[in-house]
This record gives sequence, C-alpha cells and structure tokens, in this order.
Amino acid sequence: MRLEFASIASGSSGNCIYAASGHTRLLIDAGLSGKRIEAGLGELSLTGCDIDAMLVTHEHNDHVDGLGVMSRRYNIPVYATEGTWANMPEKVGKINYGCRNTVYAGETLIINDLMIKPFAIPHDAAQPVGYTITDGVEKITVATDIGHITDEVKENINDSTILLIESNHDVDMVKKGPYPYYLKQRVLSDLGHLSNENCGKMLRDTVSGKLKYIFLGHLSNENNTPVLAFETVKNTLEAEGAVIGGDIKMYVAPRYGVKRRIKI
Ligand SMILES: [Zn+2]
Ligand SMILES: [Zn+2]
Repeated sequence: MRLEFASIASGSSGNCIYAASGHTRLLIDAGLSGKRIEAGLGELSLTGCDIDAMLVTHEHNDHVDGLGVMSRRYNIPVYATEGTWANMPEKVGKINYGCRNTVYAGETLIINDLMIKPFAIPHDAAQPVGYTITDGVEKITVATDIGHITDEVKENINDSTILLIESNHDVDMVKKGPYPYYLKQRVLSDLGHLSNENCGKMLRDTVSGKLKYIFLGHLSNENNTPVLAFETVKNTLEAEGAVIGGDIKMYVAPRYGVKRRIKI
C-alpha cells in the first residue's frame, strides 16, 4: 500500500477527510465535534493518537468545529494559512503554540514521507486552500468549497490518483429551493460553491490516465441529491469518452460515516 483515503464526513454540516501513507496519517479539516471525529476514526480502527497532523482548508465552521478539541486532546499539530489562523472562530479555542504551523498556497511542505501542497481556491473565506498529498508516486487531492473553476485548481487536480471534489448543488434546485435570496446568491456566486455541472466540467478538463477514484463531496442537503450529483457528473464525463465504473470509480462521499476505505 502506498496511500490510503477515507471520507469521515463531507457536506455543509461537517467535513473531515482521512489521508495516509504507511507512516503518516493526516486529517484534512476537522469540521465535526471531537466526539464525532473520534467515532469516525474508530470506524477506521484508529484514535486521535494515530493522527500526525491536521490540515485546514479554511475557517468556516463546517471545517474546523472539532479542530481545537482534537489538537488539545491528542497534541496534534495543525496546519493552516495565515488568513485562516487570523480568522479562526473563537469556539475553536486556544491551540498550543507548538502545534501551530502556517502554510502558504503554492509552497510544498513535508510531513514525514508525504509532500503536501496547499493551493488557493476561490471561496468566501480569508485565505482558503485545497490540498494535494503525494508520496512522490500517487497523489490524493482534496478540493471543496470552490466558487468557480480556476486554472490553479485545475493544475493541482491534474494527475491525481484519488480526488475528492466538490459537487455542491444543482443550480435549478438552488434557484427554486427554500434558501433566502442572500443565501442563494452566496451559493451561486464565484466565491460560493461548485455546482454539479461545473464539477463535471472541471473533471472533463482534468481527467487523466492516472485518475482511479473520484469522490463527489460537500453535497448540499437542500439543493442536491446523491443521485443527481452522480448522474450529472457521469454524463459530462462519459460524453468525453471516460468510462465511469471501468477505469475510473466514482462515489458520492456520504455526509457522515466511512463507507469506503481506499488503499492504492
Ligand atoms: Zn464548507
Ligand atoms: Zn466554506
């Protein structure tokens, strides 16, 4: 096994992704209560003691809820951009000085045997990033909370073996749905979230021979369904000749709970 991947939670009510090599275990975001993160790790037969670092994408609650609790309880180092650190919600609480690490978009950092590269994403947070994680051969990319497709996101997604990408909403469902006007505008804006259709387009432009697993993530509870997200993205990709279910496996990451643990 080179790398391992599992989604512990993905969606607007909490995000926590597990990525690991044989020697290094990471969480990308900790947007659930400490208790729920521990339960998710338990599903993987792990505890907080096994986690070497937590990488934070941005300061929104659904990405940092249990960050402080987990870092304090297990002394886990936290990595985030300057802007994320400066805007961390108060309820995250104090994180030990020795556990605070700053990352910079575009600058690779090394944690044990893994190379980790944060990259800028367009989203209405202070300094949000996605992450690529590689052992030099295979690559895992986590890219959610993306308002629109950018070249930088595409370049970083490219050549992933495992990709978790946002497929947040169906545009018609947002327009006709229950959200108040300001929230509809926010979701649909360039700094909001990626629609099923744009997710399909982003994949269409970046799909490479290396890609083996796609996880559609951060689905909206009100403005999307797992089937709609899956079908929309699948149709876009198959129109381009990619075979879903053949060379490429595609799944919807559940809102809560580990459904699949992928080892490559
Ligand atoms: Zn989010
Ligand atoms: Zn967000």
